[in-house]
Amino acid sequence: MPVSSELLEILACPMCKKDVEYRKAEEFLVCRQCDIRYYKERFEGEVCPKCHSALEPIRGEVLVCTACKRWYPVIDDIPHMLPDELREDLA
Ligand SMILES: [Zn+2]
Ligand SMILES: [Zn+2]
Repeated sequence: MPVSSELLEILACPMCKKDVEYRKAEEFLVCRQCDIRYYKERFEGEVCPKCHSALEPIRGEVLVCTACKRWYPVIDDIPHMLPDELREDLA
């Protein structure tokens, strides 16, 4: 189930508090070892920066802040809205 418009109304970027925009089939690169997904559009590289394992391409959902352009993955229908300091997926 995609993120509902009601939920989207409530969600805000944890860094700048502005609205986020939902994108449903974006490309991600996943490290199975670290269980981290990197957003391909913002990620430069071919291996995981943490463990140097090969990454697996997948499609996934993302929320992108309309103001600061930070991105937040939606994993199993749950938006992961973490501030920068708690994130591991910022390469
Ligand atoms: Zn890794
Ligand atoms: Zn923002």
